Amino acid sequence: MATYTFKALLTENGWVENAAVQLDAQGNILSISQTASPQGEYINGYALPGFQNAHSHAFQYAMAGLAELHTNTGVQDDFWSWRNAMYGLALTLSPEQMEAVAAMLYSEMARHGYTAVAEFHYLHHDKDGKPYANLAEMGQRLVSAAKRAGIRITLVPMFYQQGGFGQPPVERQKRFISQTIEDYYKLLEATQKVVEKQPHANVGVGIHSLRAVKPEDVISVCNSLDGSMPFHIHVSEQLKEIEDCLAFHNKRPVQWLLDNVKADDNYHLVHATHLDENEANGIAKSGANVVLCPSTEGNLGDGLFSFEAYKNAGGNWSIGTDSHVGLNPLEELRILDYGQRLISHKRTTFVTPQSGDSGFNALKMAWQSGRKAMGAPHVQFFAPGQPFDAAVFKATSPLIATASLRNLSNTLVYSADVSDMLGTVVSGKWVNKEGASINREAIVADFVKVMKELGTRV
Ligand SMILES: [Zn+2]
Repeated sequence: MATYTFKALLTENGWVENAAVQLDAQGNILSISQTASPQGEYINGYALPGFQNAHSHAFQYAMAGLAELHTNTGVQDDFWSWRNAMYGLALTLSPEQMEAVAAMLYSEMARHGYTAVAEFHYLHHDKDGKPYANLAEMGQRLVSAAKRAGIRITLVPMFYQQGGFGQPPVERQKRFISQTIEDYYKLLEATQKVVEKQPHANVGVGIHSLRAVKPEDVISVCNSLDGSMPFHIHVSEQLKEIEDCLAFHNKRPVQWLLDNVKADDNYHLVHATHLDENEANGIAKSGANVVLCPSTEGNLGDGLFSFEAYKNAGGNWSIGTDSHVGLNPLEELRILDYGQRLISHKRTTFVTPQSGDSGFNALKMAWQSGRKAMGAPHVQFFAPGQPFDAAVFKATSPLIATASLRNLSNTLVYSADVSDMLGTVVSGKWVNKEGASINREAIVADFVKVMKELGTRV
C-alpha cells in the first residue's frame, strides 16, 4: 500500500491541489483526499490521467522517418507508395524482431505519458504466409513487449481476408490473411488465450477495413458483438478507398457501415477522414467513436477530418499514433487543432457550449473515448477501484511553474513536451521517472540489434 501526494491532480471537474492518492498492493486507487500536510511520498508534479493511444501498428515503428527520402522526384509518392514500403518491412519480420521493435516503441510511448495502447494487429502468419503453431504467436510477442515496457495493451487481432473490394489477396498480404470467418474466430480465440492471466492485457475485435473483408462477413462479425470487447475498423482514410467503395457498394464506406450494422459506443472507426455531413452526423448519433491519428494522417497526406461538423453533432473521438512518426500525445492534439484552425481561421476547435477550456476539453475527450477503445470505459479520471495510471508533469518547468491552475491544462497541451515530464505511472508503479524507464537498457540493446539485422535504417 502506498500514498502519493501530488501538487495537483486533474479531475473531470478541474485541478485538485495537494491530492493524496492512496493505493492498494495492486496499484488500484483506495481513496483520494485533499490534505494540508502531504502523506506518503510527495510528488512535486501535476498528474493527468495516463494518455490512451487508441491506434497502433507496432512494427511500423521500425520505418518511422524512412519514407521521406525521395530518390526519384518524378515519381508520385503518396499513401499507396508508402504502403508498398511498409509491406516490404512486414514481409521480413520474425516474431523475435517484432517483439524487440514493439518493446522499444511501447517503452517510448510510456516515456511520453501513454499508459495504454490499442494494437491494431494484422501481421499474423509466418514469412511464407503459414499460420504459426500458436496462431497468436505474433500477438503474444506484442503482449510480452508491452509487459517489458510497462504499458497496458488492448490487442485487437484484425480480420483481413482480401486485397480489395471483391479482389483476392495479393502475395504481399500473405501474412495478414484469415480466409474465412471461422479462421478469424480461431485467431481471436488463440489471442484470448494469450492474455489470460496477463493483467496488463485484454482483447478487442477488429476488421482491417471494408476493402479487406467480404461484406457478408463484416455484417456477421458486427452482429456477433455483445459489447464485451471493443470493435475497431479502419475507414475512409483515403479518397481512393471511397471511390472503390462507391464503385462496389454504390455507397460511401461509413454510410455503408451505418446502413448495414448497428454501430454503438463500442465501435471505434479509425481515421474516418473523409466524411460527408450525413456520415458525420450518423457516427455521432450512433454513439460510435472516431480514432484520429493526426501525425500519421498528416505524414501520409490523408486529408483533414471534418472536425467541426462532427463536434457540432456531439461526436466522440480519441487519438492514436498509428505509424508512430510522432509519439507525443500533446502534439497529436495540437496537430489536430491547428489543422482545423488553418482551414476555419478560428481558434475554437475544442471549445464546446459547456466549456471554453480548449486543452482541458481535448484531454477529457481523448481520454474518455480512449478508455472505451481499450474496452475499459471509465467516467472519472481517477476513482476508487480503478488502477492508478497517470502522466506526471514537472511542477518546476518554467512555463508550468508560473502557470495558475486555471491556465495549466492549456499550458500543457499547447506548450509542453516530453522534457517537461516527471514520469509515467501504471498501476501505481513508475514505469518511467526522471528519464529512467524500466528494462530500458535491454530494450534498447535488442532494438539496435534488430535494426542492424533488418538493415532498413541504413
Ligand atoms: Zn492504421
